[in-house]
Amino acid sequence: MYNPIFSKCNNFTEAKTVRASGLYPFFRPIEKSEGTIVTIDGKRLIMLGSNNYLGLANDQRLKEASEDALLKYGTSCSGSRFMNGTLDLHEKLEEKLAQFVNKEAALCFTTGYQTNLGSLFAMLDRSDHVIVDRYNHASIMDGIFLAQGSKRDINLHRFKHNDMIDLEKILAKIPIDEGKLIVVDGVFSMEGDITPLVEIRALADKYKCGVYLDEAHALGVIGDSGRGTCEHWGGNFELADLTMCTFSKSFGSIGGFVAGKEDVIDYIKHFARPLIFSASMPPANIAAAMKALEIMTKEVYLIKNLQENASYLREAFSANGFDIGTTETPIVPLLIKDNEKTFMLWKNVFEKGVYVNPVVSPAVPPQRALIRTSCMATHTKSELDQAIEIISAEAKKLAII
Ligand code: PMP
Repeated sequence: MYNPIFSKCNNFTEAKTVRASGLYPFFRPIEKSEGTIVTIDGKRLIMLGSNNYLGLANDQRLKEASEDALLKYGTSCSGSRFMNGTLDLHEKLEEKLAQFVNKEAALCFTTGYQTNLGSLFAMLDRSDHVIVDRYNHASIMDGIFLAQGSKRDINLHRFKHNDMIDLEKILAKIPIDEGKLIVVDGVFSMEGDITPLVEIRALADKYKCGVYLDEAHALGVIGDSGRGTCEHWGGNFELADLTMCTFSKSFGSIGGFVAGKEDVIDYIKHFARPLIFSASMPPANIAAAMKALEIMTKEVYLIKNLQENASYLREAFSANGFDIGTTETPIVPLLIKDNEKTFMLWKNVFEKGVYVNPVVSPAVPPQRALIRTSCMATHTKSELDQAIEIISAEAKKLAII
């Protein structure tokens, strides 16, 4: 019987068509992961598309710390942070994270996505202004939409990617006494470039704005000791008022946190719906993130290895004729622009034994389709060379380079 609520699902044929053509790249189950090598369909591939930047998701010490916590506290917290879901482990981790990013206090959420959703929802009130870079992550936008949906009258302004002239044009038009928050990614997740945080702070001070920084791809990745965008730009941690990060990337776990002044974090704690109405981060994941933070702090050579592998990858792809945009990080986009060629290159390199991610609109603007490659601290030069050779040879056949 016809039911209008389901008609959009019946009419959604795009994925089916692409699946039938053999070019469908999404939801591929990984059967085994050894960090830089994964097994898919019984075949071993070089993983050049993971956010496991420091290789810690496969580190024995994280596995053991997770196991210990699992045995002591069980598999779930069975409640939200607000009620029965706060463990002493959450608070210990928060204390260490606050120290790591030089803030008074930190607050853990169950995912990075929920961290942005909850923190931005809490911070934005009626008639406030939120000013975002056009290339910011979807979870930032969703946090703003959540606030707009229930509080209304929240003014959203988007400035051109990393364009300080456009940002100032917007700020100059907003009344000085109205609440304003600039929100930026430290490292942009698809392009791999870095936000000009010093200039952003100067504009924020001139126009009396707060600065909220998403460090998902920056902590453990940039800065001499992996402390992210503030360290990259000279080490002044006051460049951001609020710093958030996820544990799903260099921390080898899942979860996220926001850090800032004590009273701001306490406010977020009491007004972030995704914190209050969702179960807290499970014990095994807290323990993994805590161990990762300890390793990251002590074994700075991991960050050096990652940065060396990243420049090797960028230089090789660039020398082979790829347009890699303005990346300065382990995220190295190969700009293809055309969707079909992007999917074809993904398929051909997949068949030759390399895993990368095809990225098309809406994750990037239309006509900016790309293959997102990303390396880890644990990749050997021989793995990187093999991957670079396969990708470049296949791109040549498709006349991309
Ligand atoms: N912010 C950015 C910039 C991200 O790239 C991501 C994840 N892709 C998130 C937030 C959300 O993190 P999580 O995967 O922990 O939900």
